Amino acid sequence: MILSMGMDEIKILIVEDEQKIADTLKFGLCENGFKVEVAYDGKLGYRLFSVQDFDLLILDINLPGMNGYELCKAIRLLNERIPVIMLTSMSALNDKIEGYDAGADDYIVKPFEFRELLLKIRALLKRTMSQYVPVGNLLKLSDLEMNLDSKEVKRDNTVIHLTAKEFQLLEYLLRNKNRVVSRADIAINVWDMDFDTNTNVIDVYISYLRNKVDKNFGHKLIQTQVGMGYIIKES
Ligand code: CA
Repeated sequence: MILSMGMDEIKILIVEDEQKIADTLKFGLCENGFKVEVAYDGKLGYRLFSVQDFDLLILDINLPGMNGYELCKAIRLLNERIPVIMLTSMSALNDKIEGYDAGADDYIVKPFEFRELLLKIRALLKRTMSQYVPVGNLLKLSDLEMNLDSKEVKRDNTVIHLTAKEFQLLEYLLRNKNRVVSRADIAINVWDMDFDTNTNVIDVYISYLRNKVDKNFGHKLIQTQVGMGYIIKES
C-alpha cells in the first residue's frame, strides 16, 4: 500500500510566457523540494491563483492576457500576505518602482542566477511564513522544535528525550500538523503495518508523547479528535 507522507509542501506559482525560462525555473525549484505550477499567461495565472493555495508567486512582467503589474494588483486584492517576486528583463528604476507599487515584495532581473532567486525565495518565505519553514532539517510548531539530523527535540528550549518510536510518531504528527491523522494513518506510516483495530498501541504511544511534550508546558499541542484520530496544532 502506498500512502503519501502528507508532507507540508511549499507551493509556488510561476507566471511566465517564455516556456523555456518557465520550465527551467520549474525544474530547479522542484529539485529544491518545492511544488510548482506554471501558467503561461496572466489571465490563466490569475485563475490558477484564485482556485489553488500557493505560498509564493513568481511573476514575469511582460505577459500576454494581463501583464505582471496588473496581475500583481489583482492578486493583492485577494491576498495581501503572499510573497511576490517579479521577474523581468527590464532593469530601469521606474519599472521597479511600478512593481513595488503593484505590491511586489522583491524583484529579479533577467538574466539571473538561479541561486540568487533561490535565496530571495527562502528569505521571503522565512519572513512571511510564521509556522513551518523547512530550515535545514527542522520541524517546528509553536515552541516545539524537532531536529531530524541531530534527533534533538526541544520545547521552549528544554531538551525532551524521546524513544525512537516516540520520535517517529512526533515526526509524523508534525509533518501533518494542523491536519487530523487517523489511527490507521499512524499505524501504516509509523509502524509500517495495519493494526488490528482493537489494539490501543497508538493511544498508549500518544499518551507517552503527551507526557513528554505537553504535560509540563503551558499550552497543549497534541489533541484528540474524538472518533477521528489526532491532530497537532497550536490550540
Ligand atoms: Ca515575458
